[in-house]
Amino acid sequence: MDKAAHDGSDRPLLLIADADSHKRGTLGDALRSAGFRVEPVADLAACMNALKRTRPDLVLVDASLCEHGGAELGRRLRSVSEADTTPIIMLMGHEDISAIAEARAEGISDFMDRTTHPMLVEHRVRSTIESSASLLSLDGDERDPGCASQRPFAGRRELERVIAQVMSFDERVAVLCIAASGKLGAALEPDALQRALDRFSEESPQESPLGMVRVVPTSSEDVTIVVSGIGRLQDVGRLAACVRDSASDPHEGLPDDEPRSVAVGVSTAPDDGSVPAELLNHAREAVSAAARHEGGCVRFHDEALNRWSVARLSLEQDLRSAIANDELVVHYQPKVDIESLRVVGMEALVRWEHTQLGMISPNQFIPLAEETGLIHPIGQWVLETACNQTKRWQEQGFAPVRMGVNLSPVQFRQPDLLEVVRRTLSEIGVDPRWLELELTEGMLMHEVQATLDCLRGLKQLGVHLSIDDFGTGYSSLSYLKRFPIDTLKIDQSFVRDVTGNADDAAIVTSIILMGRGLKLNIIAEGVETESQLELLRVLRCNEIQGYLISPPVPAEQAASLLTRS
Ligand code: C2E
Ligand code: MG
Ligand code: MG
Repeated sequence: MDKAAHDGSDRPLLLIADADSHKRGTLGDALRSAGFRVEPVADLAACMNALKRTRPDLVLVDASLCEHGGAELGRRLRSVSEADTTPIIMLMGHEDISAIAEARAEGISDFMDRTTHPMLVEHRVRSTIESSASLLSLDGDERDPGCASQRPFAGRRELERVIAQVMSFDERVAVLCIAASGKLGAALEPDALQRALDRFSEESPQESPLGMVRVVPTSSEDVTIVVSGIGRLQDVGRLAACVRDSASDPHEGLPDDEPRSVAVGVSTAPDDGSVPAELLNHAREAVSAAARHEGGCVRFHDEALNRWSVARLSLEQDLRSAIANDELVVHYQPKVDIESLRVVGMEALVRWEHTQLGMISPNQFIPLAEETGLIHPIGQWVLETACNQTKRWQEQGFAPVRMGVNLSPVQFRQPDLLEVVRRTLSEIGVDPRWLELELTEGMLMHEVQATLDCLRGLKQLGVHLSIDDFGTGYSSLSYLKRFPIDTLKIDQSFVRDVTGNADDAAIVTSIILMGRGLKLNIIAEGVETESQLELLRVLRCNEIQGYLISPPVPAEQAASLLTRS
């Protein structure tokens, strides 16, 4: 909002929050006569209210306004969402000095003795507003999307302040220094970067990968990004790669054949330090190292992270070509009826036969595929392969069985999933009732209405729906009633010790009881011993799957377990 247009005044607005009416009066008068507009408030509630309503340029608040101390005061004021960049100066006495570090961590920008002469206060207020103005102009809708060369650049102190501010929201923070060369540098637009970060947040398989994000230009060729809410270290790696890709994208007005060099240096808190200056130094060292590579690259301050990122990048490249090179295979593991031990279903489990590294477990490469979006072609390939196999077995005269296919949460979120499944089944010519989709509990907890619609659509199509790894996720029982689910797969971690551990036995027993009560089919996965089978039979589980019957095997071997119809 443009404050000048709003009330006809372009003088900065100060919020003075002090319970002492005399102090409010004298300080207010002094600042007014120094050219500021002043809004006095007497308590914390009024202060928060005014902060939201008037969006002042600066807040002067007395520490005694909050009986729980300066840190709590900072927390409360910063909880007003409009106030995430407003400078806040705390007036305090000697008794409050020990709380400075904590209050700073909670977002208080600066501190002054409450007996400071009004003229000194005025001076501090003015310089604080001036130094924050250049940063403010970078934030959100107040950022000028126009000419890159005219945008204000943040200095080192401002940058440290931004880092401290982001750190006050979350202790896990990443600082990314981006340096681009030549003409490309001039096109390193904060807006474009911000859009890339938004996309990253949306497409991320995590629930809420990024917290507070600040994109701060530091020269025409350098931008620093500070983000909080980094859940796992590998997310920083992906983020850095995404930022680099975005910065290397062809920009308007830049010839396509212009040589591009983008280097990214990364440091993270708390691993690489917990002081803004230290984090900034580490990120700058890293970006200098990255810039020495031809074409630039991503470097982390942390060596282990560097090694990890190189290994991961090459694995990602390999995974991209794995589909084309026929390195993926599907193995099939039977599911049997617990009484007759006849095969009633198969589960398709993907494997990667890497030319150099040998067999790689899906537990390793599925997460990578999810992070890189490769899960879509891989998932589609598995679905087609499993359906083709089902079709072939039926044509060969085997009694039809359900074919289970695992769905990743990322696939589940694709809007045309229903259509993709419908089309695949009809093109291959498999009756939907022979397809079983294995979902996980977590998938059902997000966007409940959309999920419900999707599951209903699949159900209407005739597809069988299972919850895989049941008991490990949110285990909210209400969804079992609401969602049209056919089968619960008891997670193997409960089955493993079901005969020796009373807790596991109790969990398995109650899952079976509840599932049967809801008329669901119950299968136990990871059954390895006769005694597990016996107990599960006594508990009236319907089906089992596990090494006791057969591990996942190639299609030809799996066929020998099927019966002729
Ligand atoms: P899941 O769907 O729960 O599959 C069960 C896993 O347990 C499989 O591991 C299977 O080989 C293993 N297993 C089966 N019986 C036993 C047993 O008796 N004892 C023990 N210890 N393990 C047993 P796998 O094949 O390594 O797959 C691991 C996970 O990777 C799967 O868990 C699934 O979540 C995922 N996955 C596998 N294939 C695909 C796929 O095509 N798409 C997606 N999205 N995920 C897949
Ligand atoms: Mg499964
Ligand atoms: Mg499972």
